[in-house]
Amino acid sequence: MIKVVKFGGSSLASAEQFKKVKEIITSDESRKFVVPSAPGKRFIEDIKVTDMLYECYEAAEAGKKFDDKLENIKKRYQEIIDGLQLELSLDNQFAQIKEDFINKKGREYAASRGEYLNGIVMAEYLGYTFFDAALAIRFDEEGNFLPDETDALLTEQLEGLERVVVPGFYGAQEDGTVRTFSRGGSDITGSIVAKNIHADIYENWTDVSGFLVADPRIIRDPKVITSITYRELRELAYMGATVLHEDAIFPVRNCGIPINIRNTNAPEDEGTLIVESTCRTPEYTITGIAGKKGFVAVHIEKSMMNAEVGFGRKVLQAFEENNISFEHMPSGIDTMTVMVQQEDFQGKEQQVMSAIHRLAQPDSIELVGDLSLIAVVGRGMKAAKGTAGRIFSALAHARVNVRMIDQGSSELNIIIGVENDDFEKAIKAVYDIFVETQL
Ligand code: ASP
Repeated sequence: MIKVVKFGGSSLASAEQFKKVKEIITSDESRKFVVPSAPGKRFIEDIKVTDMLYECYEAAEAGKKFDDKLENIKKRYQEIIDGLQLELSLDNQFAQIKEDFINKKGREYAASRGEYLNGIVMAEYLGYTFFDAALAIRFDEEGNFLPDETDALLTEQLEGLERVVVPGFYGAQEDGTVRTFSRGGSDITGSIVAKNIHADIYENWTDVSGFLVADPRIIRDPKVITSITYRELRELAYMGATVLHEDAIFPVRNCGIPINIRNTNAPEDEGTLIVESTCRTPEYTITGIAGKKGFVAVHIEKSMMNAEVGFGRKVLQAFEENNISFEHMPSGIDTMTVMVQQEDFQGKEQQVMSAIHRLAQPDSIELVGDLSLIAVVGRGMKAAKGTAGRIFSALAHARVNVRMIDQGSSELNIIIGVENDDFEKAIKAVYDIFVETQL
């Protein structure tokens, strides 16, 4: 049994946190591959090392003095090293970083040093081998991740290594230029390593006990989702539920490696298991609820629309011409609605409307803004009868006006459009009916 364990920034923010991490790792023989993030926040107003590095590099790039800023970053590591009573000096690494900053080695290089240095500290503390991710995680010149090249390099280079620390978040181009994933990208590194060493499980340790059924800013103390499929997760993540970087799913998804979200501060909690498929009956009919504010509904009407071949294409062309992607498209006999993000749409609304008129000659177009979309997601919904009915009676009870309904063809989700002002109320109503009352 081999486990890849990734620890997020808050799990590695201080020596205290490092101690918890070591206990977790040593308590299970199979935790052989460790992927650390950079030290995160120790308290709410604290600054993540990654952000300190970006700021420091900006100063260096602008030709300003950056010694103090770099010194503060060094202090963060020194505090950890001292707290763990390690005989380790990062003087050489910091001298190199300083030189590289003066030589303007790049913003991504700068950010990557957070994980790089933390990896060195972690390897020393655990007695594991340090493996520099730049040697095997490949990007092209545009900064796109190259999975095939990476797979070949990683497999070759990790061979024979027993217990290894691979810093997260970065890799390099073939010429050695360091590149990073987008923010939170250590999750992706963990997933790539898990795939390549054929791990049995990818544990992702963070500061919450897994995915929650609903946003804790809206629902007090929501229940934890014990198991979720990749598809359900994708639906919820798209709607704003964040714990794991979205792209972290792809490397392990097709290899049948489950991801287990765990809490460094509560290791006894089982967390959330993310799997391709499961026959485990979900605890509730719904797996989760998530939503986003700020949508516009573009209602288009044309009599006999149903008989006009190509009408939908022409309408969508108007959006495409204006470089706007759409979210949902429920339709009726003589009507169709295109839901778009208000932010993208607002500045171009008149161009889009005139394009729709020109291309599709509808009878009318009506715009309704300030809408929210709420996704009620669950693999259990397919088999349960009356799920939609329960959702809508709960919403009616809460006096929420439903402006749009769209049930995904997979029956995995029901999307509801409500006014922004009703957003929280609607989520609460759906949560209560399925989770609190467990009907
Ligand atoms: N340290 C990076 C960030 O703050 C990457 C990560 O933590 O996953 O975004």
